[in-house]
Amino acid sequence: MSIKSTDERYIAHTYKRFDIAIVAGNGCLCYDDNGKEYIDMTSGIGVSTFGYSDPVWAQAVANQAKILQHTSNLYYTAPCAELAEILCTRTGMDKVFFSNSGAEANECAVKVARKYAADRKGAEYCNIITLKKSFHGRTLTTLAATGQDAFHEKFTPLTDGFLYAEANDIDGLEKLVADNKVAGMLIEVVQGEGGVNTLDEDFVKAAEHICRENDLVFMIDEVQTGNGRTGKLYGYMHYGVQPDVVSTAKGLAGGLPMGATLMSKKVSDVLGYGDHGSTFGGNPVCAAAAISVLNRLDDAFLADVTAKGEFIRERLTAAGFAVSGLGLMVGITTEKPVSEALAACTEKGVLCLSAKEKLRLLPPLNIPQEQLEKALDIIIEVLS
Ligand code: PLP
Repeated sequence: MSIKSTDERYIAHTYKRFDIAIVAGNGCLCYDDNGKEYIDMTSGIGVSTFGYSDPVWAQAVANQAKILQHTSNLYYTAPCAELAEILCTRTGMDKVFFSNSGAEANECAVKVARKYAADRKGAEYCNIITLKKSFHGRTLTTLAATGQDAFHEKFTPLTDGFLYAEANDIDGLEKLVADNKVAGMLIEVVQGEGGVNTLDEDFVKAAEHICRENDLVFMIDEVQTGNGRTGKLYGYMHYGVQPDVVSTAKGLAGGLPMGATLMSKKVSDVLGYGDHGSTFGGNPVCAAAAISVLNRLDDAFLADVTAKGEFIRERLTAAGFAVSGLGLMVGITTEKPVSEALAACTEKGVLCLSAKEKLRLLPPLNIPQEQLEKALDIIIEVLS
């Protein structure tokens, strides 16, 4: 049987895959089982920070796998502790909880906000405000957090206690807080799956202010925007705000599963012994991978991400396209149906993503200029 037919036979049909079996990759290029080469503008949906099988990343993973691959959270391990220190030092946050995915990082954030509010104001202060068009994950609680009805329909009852505000509507946000018993707010500064919608600075600042005024937990979902993707280490750093909780995953470990929930001093002692846990969370191999990723995301590298993002925007704007997003998180408005555009790009050897009706690009952060230009030429040709 071929890869495709074995997959179709034995794997649950929850993914509508492209008709490609990727068998190898190198940097920003990958190859299918017919030997066809593709430029990857997806990085595995924002995960492979340094592309496929980056040698520095692979070495960090291999070294740690040979020393100690897993212990459980009953014991201390060096990579986990070191990674938490790096994350706190670089964000000003106080403590970290490690998990394995973005959804889990958000689940932890919701637990922190609810317990913080319950301890101070009473368990009825359980509501979490998120935004319409947001995406926060596929577990029943993070589906509830996701402000899109289409994701809710088949799986009710979801976790109770989520309220949805319109993005960039400060009055609406104030009213929701005034009319309900609220624990906290969870927002993406650039909505990824929802269409690469960048939030207004006024709105994000107002959200922080409303949280401070009402002693709410201000949470930013940096699962997609985090770890250098937008040209800053975390997307909120563009906005001059300081969240109480940051959730992240995707690019953190550059291709291994790792989620992290960063907590500020205000909330870092809210969860105590037994309140939360994860068998794999903080796994030493994943932590070693994440240390290797974060250590390379220095100021010069992040400036380069910004420059590449600007190059993409200039190029696409000059070709007549409207572009959204920040850094190397790019949404392109296209008159062509996005599924057709994706298929045509794939055919011409460029892998892209969609976000609602837009074409979305999340290339590896170290994509070489030459490959970037070649990919953009093809994308422009396809969309024109
Ligand atoms: N939050 C955001 C902003 C995301 O983009 C995603 C995934 O696309 C998630 C959460 C869920 O992450 P995961 O699929 O790792 O659970």
